[in-house]
Amino acid sequence: MTLLLTILTALLAAALLIALVVSLFLILRTLQSVRKYIEKINWGVRAIEKETEMLGGLQDFHGHMCPGLAVGIRAAEIALARIGKHASDEQIVAIVETDMCAVDAIQFVTGCTFGKGNLIHHDYGKNAFTFIRRSDNKAIRILTKPAAWDDPDDEHARLSTKVRSGAATSEEAARFHKSHLAKARQILDAPSEQLFSINETTITAPKKARIYASIKCVECNEMVMETRLRKFGGRDLCIPCFEKAEAR
Ligand SMILES: [Zn+2]
Ligand SMILES: [Zn+2]
Repeated sequence: MTLLLTILTALLAAALLIALVVSLFLILRTLQSVRKYIEKINWGVRAIEKETEMLGGLQDFHGHMCPGLAVGIRAAEIALARIGKHASDEQIVAIVETDMCAVDAIQFVTGCTFGKGNLIHHDYGKNAFTFIRRSDNKAIRILTKPAAWDDPDDEHARLSTKVRSGAATSEEAARFHKSHLAKARQILDAPSEQLFSINETTITAPKKARIYASIKCVECNEMVMETRLRKFGGRDLCIPCFEKAEAR
């Protein structure tokens, strides 16, 4: 009898132990999936924080948020994903065919700037941005589709004209500002294929900026980079002095 009881107790204890192990395992699994879920949320929050931080810095740099800036942000993000960010060991050159708001986002986000000489402006008046990676000459040209600027109703355009001409009431100005921001948000959220046509192109990056000698303009006595000097009547002139001399 005692033996039977002992065996039964042992069996019960074993069953309890197994149940305990199984439930611990289940709890562990649940905790793990909760952890994964929390990690995902964290990742999302970090992405939002990063975007907010980037947008905040960019807005300070540019002065305001606008649809043009939003187009530049989207184009720059595509460049980052497909070409990479400019770095000391990976040179990226951007060629922009506009000098509007978008270019500030290109500079801020990709690290291609006028000062570094890896931002080149072609004054073609097109919303097109080409990015070239020097290491392998991989290049893409991102052309903004007219649809990016499309308006379901023309209120934005109408208000824009009114605000620019100074004829808008403060209520209209406020309405314009709101729709301007809404348009920027719409561009930030739109699928990229709706905004751009993107083409791989073959273009070799322009030569790296060289250091040139400075020579004195004989007219104004200011120093000029030698490649920007103009000869006029055998005299070395800077461009403004050359233009003045030529107009005489
Ligand atoms: Zn702007
Ligand atoms: Zn001069």
